[in-house]
Amino acid sequence: MPRPARVYKSPAIVLRQRRLGETDKIITLYTAEYGKVDAVAKGVRRLKSRLAGNVEPLSHGSFLLARGRNLDIITQVQSIESFQPLHDDLGRLSHALYAAELLDRATEERSENFALYRLLLDTLRRLAERDDLERTLRYYEMAVLGQLGYKPELQRCVVCGAELAPGEVVRWAANLGGVVCSNCKPQDTVLSTLSPATLNALRVLQSEHFQDVVDLDLDHDTAVALEHLLREAIHYALDQDVRSAAFLDEVRKRPRTHRRAGIQ
Ligand SMILES: [Zn+2]
Repeated sequence: MPRPARVYKSPAIVLRQRRLGETDKIITLYTAEYGKVDAVAKGVRRLKSRLAGNVEPLSHGSFLLARGRNLDIITQVQSIESFQPLHDDLGRLSHALYAAELLDRATEERSENFALYRLLLDTLRRLAERDDLERTLRYYEMAVLGQLGYKPELQRCVVCGAELAPGEVVRWAANLGGVVCSNCKPQDTVLSTLSPATLNALRVLQSEHFQDVVDLDLDHDTAVALEHLLREAIHYALDQDVRSAAFLDEVRKRPRTHRRAGIQ
């Protein structure tokens, strides 16, 4: 990775922000060119700050940064898109914040990965425009796992390596990172049987093309199973949970008048 010059520019998405002193904030960016970067936005807690509106979580902008002794400093931001629909709908917002937090927790600072930047951007656009929020998020979760080297194994048994036969009873072992054939009995592993529909849906989620996921025929039980399985896979891959998943669950429990997101 090239070492950035003293002043450098990159498109980036704001993952989160936290207070620093009386008037500043530390902004966590996912940049197109340098991966995740923490940078200071000076004076943004003042009323008249010009930066403030462009460093809110989920903002997408072109950032000009200056290298600092410890943290880099945001000197200028040109807004590219504000994703207003995400802020107008709590269902959309909770899904988008979860997507941002997952990327924040899953990545190290300054580890360049353009594909992850692109993936988050595409996902935020889909969450702003589409109604199939859950599918969009499942596809995103599977793709993040893949980018980080934790793509769940769904074709061969993770214990013996045998290719799964059609119609075989297949079990899922989250801690082993994939499926287990009907002959293997791994120790200290919780195995849950996958229905053929769930196994097929998991495989479709690994498609390079989001459209394959859109076209997938998905019933409610399978959709719920997918969410559970992916959350488990993320828990083992990251060795932690994504806190805003709880917020997402909370929003879903509210009456539908307060949100527009459906389970599928
Ligand atoms: Zn096996």
